[in-house]
Amino acid sequence: VSTIGIIGGGQLGRMLAMAAARLSLRTIILEPQADCPAAQVANAQIVAAYDDLAALDELAQRSDVVTYEFENVPVAAAELLVRSVPVLPPPKALEVSQDRLAEKRFINECGIATAPFAAVDSQADLEAALDSFGGIGVLKTRRLGYDGKGQRMFRSPAEDRQGAFEALGSVPLILEGLIAFEREISIIAARAQDGTIVCYDPAENVHRNGILHTSTVPAAIHEATADQARRAARAILDRLDYVGVVGVEFFVLGDGQLVANEMAPRVHNSGHWTEAACVVSQFEQHIRAVAGLPLGDGRRHSDCVMQNLIGDDIETVPAWLKTPDALVHLYGKRESRPGRKMGHVTALR
Ligand code: ATP
Ligand code: MG
Ligand code: MG
Repeated sequence: VSTIGIIGGGQLGRMLAMAAARLSLRTIILEPQADCPAAQVANAQIVAAYDDLAALDELAQRSDVVTYEFENVPVAAAELLVRSVPVLPPPKALEVSQDRLAEKRFINECGIATAPFAAVDSQADLEAALDSFGGIGVLKTRRLGYDGKGQRMFRSPAEDRQGAFEALGSVPLILEGLIAFEREISIIAARAQDGTIVCYDPAENVHRNGILHTSTVPAAIHEATADQARRAARAILDRLDYVGVVGVEFFVLGDGQLVANEMAPRVHNSGHWTEAACVVSQFEQHIRAVAGLPLGDGRRHSDCVMQNLIGDDIETVPAWLKTPDALVHLYGKRESRPGRKMGHVTALR
């Protein structure tokens, strides 16, 4: 492998391209936005939509392997690519992770607990599902939600449900039981082409306004809980005959048991800390896996906290630059907007 095609040109694509460059691998980005974070560091870009047939064909021609930085790559596009170039992680991973209903069914098939759930395709479905959940739950769009967008919580049976289906856009929804969790963790794991699996230590995640705010490692969990997270990641990776990095989010219950929330078939925001606290980051690990190289070890040499720089947080950069043992990573986005991820910083401690 000498050239890796990457679908998606955001910060994750950018960091993958940076990791590839260090291993003398070339990258070509498929991304409709010309001025995207990844274009500044990749070797080449095809400026086109993710489902543009001619562009996909060109990407296949110019790449030895194609990967992606986001899970909403049209499955049809991935299946078309697969006919002429290896696509890793396998398209099946896209299929299960871009629809919350398919995702929960798949995770359960792997022997991993999730919140109880019900498909909601109408206001009547919603009423029935809410009734069966005691009037409490989280309503989510099945597709395209991120950073807590496309969600509505029902915290008490007294809450008004009127118009809730329409309010989320009248698209297929899922109602999940509301999990009373003690904390949230995620695990980043990688599987190589020979089936070898490497797990990073679970991170403890705190969200603000629905967006990941900090990831702290080590998480305040018992070894048995960490082990449960590793076993869950392994089960998911093996069942998909996966190659690349996956991120799996969990709720930790009071008794230390885990309930899986969702998975992402890609490098994950809650794994950014690995670039500062591990010798081989999640980005390099993903590149190694899809390029058919041996994985690096996942050992952590330092405790750390990764903090996202969102919107105006960008103004804290001068102070971070003067902070010892803090790795500042900016994404090259010109304008900051509320809720926009501008960069992150990992402070070792
Ligand atoms: P991401 O940006 O991580 O992809 P997302 O938009 O896909 O986020 P989720 O991860 O499903 O959304 O939910 C966002 C947050 O909302 C969770 O991290 C958790 O704090 C809360 N949440 C989601 N589902 C539930 C649930 N069933 N019970 C309790 N809290 C939940
Ligand atoms: Mg998500
Ligand atoms: Mg999430």
